[in-house]
Amino acid sequence: MAGQQTARRVPLRKCIVCGVKTDKRGLIRIVAPQEGPVEVDATGKARGRGAYVCRSGGMEHDRLGRGRLDHSLRRKLTEEEWSALVSSIGAARDTEQR
Ligand SMILES: [Zn+2]
Repeated sequence: MAGQQTARRVPLRKCIVCGVKTDKRGLIRIVAPQEGPVEVDATGKARGRGAYVCRSGGMEHDRLGRGRLDHSLRRKLTEEEWSALVSSIGAARDTEQR
């Protein structure tokens, strides 16, 4: 492919909902630690199985995301975990997109 930038070392991550690939700053990492609830990983370094959702994703991400997140994290999210996660994702989007 002509013009491909091979020098860039920004790792690309894929949104689990829409499949868009972008670098980490464009995505929100969600982590499933060995113990404790699934949560938004603000540092991007938390241990556990991670999944990414794009920051620009709208409400459809929140609706579609759940099943895919369960799959990616290999964990069945409870109703509580999921709703807490949706509001954390919303908050993370708000802080970054001003
Ligand atoms: Zn997305």
